[in-house]
Amino acid sequence: MSVVAKKPRLSSMVRNMSESETLKMAQMARNLRAQGHDVISLAIGEPDFDTPDHIKMAAIKALTEGFTKYTPVPGIPELLDAVSKKFKRDNDLDYAPNQIVVSNGAKQSISNVAFALLEEGDECIIFAPYWVSYIEIVRMTGATPVIVSAGVEQDYKVTAEQVEAAITERTKMVLFSSPCNPSGAVFTKSELHAIADVIGKYEDIVVVSDEIYEYINYTDAGNTSIGTFESVKDRTVTVNGFAKGFAMTGWRLGFIGAPKWIADACNKIQGQYTSGANSFSQKAAVVALNSGLEASYKMRDEFRKRRDMCIDLLSEIPGFKVPTPEGAFYIFPNISTYFGKSDGTTTIKNADDFADYVMLNAYVGVVSGGAFGAPDCFRLSYAASEAQLREAIRRIKEVCARLS
Ligand code: PMP
Ligand code: GLU
Repeated sequence: MSVVAKKPRLSSMVRNMSESETLKMAQMARNLRAQGHDVISLAIGEPDFDTPDHIKMAAIKALTEGFTKYTPVPGIPELLDAVSKKFKRDNDLDYAPNQIVVSNGAKQSISNVAFALLEEGDECIIFAPYWVSYIEIVRMTGATPVIVSAGVEQDYKVTAEQVEAAITERTKMVLFSSPCNPSGAVFTKSELHAIADVIGKYEDIVVVSDEIYEYINYTDAGNTSIGTFESVKDRTVTVNGFAKGFAMTGWRLGFIGAPKWIADACNKIQGQYTSGANSFSQKAAVVALNSGLEASYKMRDEFRKRRDMCIDLLSEIPGFKVPTPEGAFYIFPNISTYFGKSDGTTTIKNADDFADYVMLNAYVGVVSGGAFGAPDCFRLSYAASEAQLREAIRRIKEVCARLS
């Protein structure tokens, strides 16, 4: 029997997967910088603040004390306890320690939940604009993402009626973030209540509420967790993490509170996949949660100042439709009036072209709205110094003026 020689090749899952656009644009900015260009990267969503000292000290202490071994898969007991108390204190949510799973970032938390619940034939409703990775994570499970979109005219917020219209007998999950990455929109209590009441009518749908920007919220009312509403209380997974609110992106620590049967499934998946999260990060996270939120609110206040400044400066650019975001550290202007315009060399056909044009001509890294399911927009992160933001927006204004 003759064997036909075949080259090894990547799985169809990877071949069909798109690269994370946020990480790609951040890398493009690094490459241009390495070539000697003066690049201001507002592409990646990462606080520019350092992790507060008291949190770092806790990790150093854990290291010196030799806390360097494997930890229980869902997290160390004192962190599960601290997260459970945090959910009660900040969100009025009742998740017992055995309903909590700590992972290597909220990204893994979301993946665990998706793999625990979704499979081919299922649909997952995702609100657009959405965070880049939601789509690919859902697609990896074999399920189909169903996009429900909200444009600038509705402040990028999907309504309960839209959710209802998108539900089919295959809907298994509804996934969204508030405060939202990339729009910065924050759902009000009554908006969430209406959405909860719609989902509440369908007993087999799980709500996944990504609240990773919880502490970066500028509204007087603050954050509402959809899991507090009676109609979805028993089937809401609340996702959160340490990356944004505590400036701990590199520590890789996220968590969920979930119905126990879902938490158990995530624990099982994680046990085969990555095991417990980083040991000394978890010790530091206990201190982060238990020592007050002063440092987080200080960062939030600084972000708010920058947001106000950026909104003022961006609204001076002709053709930009810029709603004022109420949370997170992103601004998401609609720039569709530039489509079809040219500087004589480059014609802007869509938001991808616009983001590339800004990157290559103004040397400012931004991300196309296409990556977030909003192809009329681009995302700018204002997690940068005031001076950098001023200069970046001045450059964007200048290169936009060349388009006619
Ligand atoms: N959800 C949203 C909305 C995000 O913006 C991010 C990006 N940090 C994540 C989840 C993932 O967070 P982590 O860095 O903890 O994996
Ligand atoms: N969540 C951040 C962002 O949207 C970090 C990058 C990523 O994980 O995709 O830029």
